[in-house]
Amino acid sequence: MSARFNLFEMASTQFAQAADLINLDPMVRTILSEPQNEIIVNFPVVMDNGTHRLFKGYRIQHNSTHGPYKGGIRYHESVNLAEVKALASWMTWKSALMGIPFGGAKGGVTLNPRDFSVNELQRITRRFTYALGNNIGPEYDIPAPDVGTGAREMVWMMDTYMQMFNASDRNATRRVVTGKTIINGGSLGRDKATGQGLVFCFDVWSKHAGFDIKGSTFFVQGFGNVGSHAARIMQSRGARLLSVNDHTGSIANLDGIDADDLAAYVAQKGGVKGYPRAKEIALTEFFHTKADIFIPAALECSLHEDNESLIRAKFVIEGANGPTTPEAEERLAARGVTVIPDILANSGGVTVSYFEWVQNKNSEIWELEKVDEELDRLMKRATQCVLDEMDARKCQPRTAAMTLAVGRLEKIYKERGIFP
Ligand code: NAD
Repeated sequence: MSARFNLFEMASTQFAQAADLINLDPMVRTILSEPQNEIIVNFPVVMDNGTHRLFKGYRIQHNSTHGPYKGGIRYHESVNLAEVKALASWMTWKSALMGIPFGGAKGGVTLNPRDFSVNELQRITRRFTYALGNNIGPEYDIPAPDVGTGAREMVWMMDTYMQMFNASDRNATRRVVTGKTIINGGSLGRDKATGQGLVFCFDVWSKHAGFDIKGSTFFVQGFGNVGSHAARIMQSRGARLLSVNDHTGSIANLDGIDADDLAAYVAQKGGVKGYPRAKEIALTEFFHTKADIFIPAALECSLHEDNESLIRAKFVIEGANGPTTPEAEERLAARGVTVIPDILANSGGVTVSYFEWVQNKNSEIWELEKVDEELDRLMKRATQCVLDEMDARKCQPRTAAMTLAVGRLEKIYKERGIFP
């Protein structure tokens, strides 16, 4: 989706707006305007038919002043340098905004995972991890799942990384990745964390706006990890799902789509197309759904100046990273639509990743109730801070979230300085 847009230019525009507003120190502005490290690896992998294929993998480490680099690994055919740089910078802002001791990074491999067998995906993941070598590490740079990867890929990454150490040191490196399966050191609640965090955030926001989730209507783009969990939890709060779009098509049912039932269908069929309890609709009709809330949870730049006018929702809650272009956002704001920004709304994922990292570090296993309680507390705290900042600065939600995050990093740099 990002082929039309240079995602890093978009991220830089957002950063500049916040930097201007807080009159950011020029030294800090210069440092934060580019990632600290840009790692690109070309690595060969044996295919099932015995041939060798070269893959391009990225790991962009944007900033580590707030803690170790942290961010997901994406497998998608459109992965490119500008995209990964933007995604890495958003991770820096997200960790700073949430107040969790991580920096920002992102990685990816340019491929469509649907084109490969499970064995090939395993070899690709292991070869990529090996090619990254010591550029990742449990106290240095900690990957997690993103689009096209999940717990399965994280376990392969963990296992490959662990093999690089003596047997006696291996266990201490388990937390080199988060988003693992439970049996391999993952955290309860990590699978639903991003969707859960989005709803915890909207609990606070909706209360502040005098809006009742119960009885409201919503529609979702992307029905993968983030979209499906957000939809199921919104539904459990009494909201009705009216339409869904993913890479296979768009479906609608104005009487409501059962999000749990649709998730079971997607798990089996790979997409929403052909779901029997809804009708197929065109993409323009999907964006024009008459509902209170739109949750974009697919890829970046899906909401742009050509389709923004179709949106009739009061709230856009960004489950995806960078789904709204700055032009579309400006127009939405002008007509009173609230856009709750990605670095706040989808930060539940990195927050529970942090809990997983802490559990691994301390050899602890937290109950799901504790994970949810802590996530709720941190989402509430960050959401309230953003609402207060908007009020104080009279600015839009994204600018408020960005000024808080960038302002915290500015404080760190001012205290630490740079060496030498
Ligand atoms: P996923 O791979 O589980 O799901 C991606 C979804 O996007 C799928 O439903 C897919 O069909 C849909 N999609 C892909 N291409 C599309 C297209 N061209 N048109 C419409 N739909 C399309 O990925 P995910 O983990 O749910 O991530 C979704 C978004 O949320 C990404 O922007 C990601 O960076 C962001 N995010 C994910 C997490 C996480 O914990 N997984 C955390 C924060 C942010």
